[in-house]
Amino acid sequence: MNFSLTTLGTASARPIAGKYPSAHLLSVGGRLFLIDCGEGAQMQLVNLKVSLLKIDNIFISHLHGDHMFGLFGLLYSMDMLNRLAPIHVYGPSNLGNILNELPSHFGQLRFEVVFHPIKCKESVKILEFKQLEIYSFPLNHRVETYGYIFKGLWRNNPRSFAYCSDTAPFSKLSKWLDGTTMLYHEATYASDNKLLAKKTFHSTGADAGRLAAKIGAKSLVLGHFSSRYKELKVILNEAKEFFPNTHLANEGMKFDIP
Ligand SMILES: [Zn+2]
Ligand SMILES: [Zn+2]
Repeated sequence: MNFSLTTLGTASARPIAGKYPSAHLLSVGGRLFLIDCGEGAQMQLVNLKVSLLKIDNIFISHLHGDHMFGLFGLLYSMDMLNRLAPIHVYGPSNLGNILNELPSHFGQLRFEVVFHPIKCKESVKILEFKQLEIYSFPLNHRVETYGYIFKGLWRNNPRSFAYCSDTAPFSKLSKWLDGTTMLYHEATYASDNKLLAKKTFHSTGADAGRLAAKIGAKSLVLGHFSSRYKELKVILNEAKEFFPNTHLANEGMKFDIP
């Protein structure tokens, strides 16, 4: 069963030439899920020749612009492409108010945007398909933020993928993610900016590596890099000290969930 993650954007909030803010495409047996939708997500999908109309479910982690400013453009492009099928959007409850406001400013969409507010204190199942379960869990950021787990329950090769961005490390997280096959984790900073990471509720490469080791993951993908790092190797290397099978995400890169 095909199960892969394509990283559409790996930057954090500040714009950098050639980079895009957070957006990720998860393919599960051909079914496409969008996880976060920073500015430029639709351009990246077009660059990769992915039909915008194939996405039926969008998961937003939190209401920081670098994770969701691309959502409005994407929805209106879908309308322009004659979408009629409803789209399902998951995220913190405030997002519902914003989505409700859109038609009064930009016109009515011809398809329904079905918003599913996430509100949880533990890991809870939010959606399921045949042999696929999707869970949400809270993260530890400056605003209400949720992560997502996709569990492919195929009998001969069950695998799972977890998405954690943005978050500072916290103890409960490893319990919810225990046994995850591939972990995507933000690594905004390296440990030289450990204090800044703590202050802004972000993680370092070392934090991400430590978590991947603790949960017994098979692979770790790092993203959401601060623009202050011209060379990302420092983030990668410190994660690898704890978890050798670590990879840096890059725009358009595809990772198979092993
Ligand atoms: Zn962010
Ligand atoms: Zn954030």
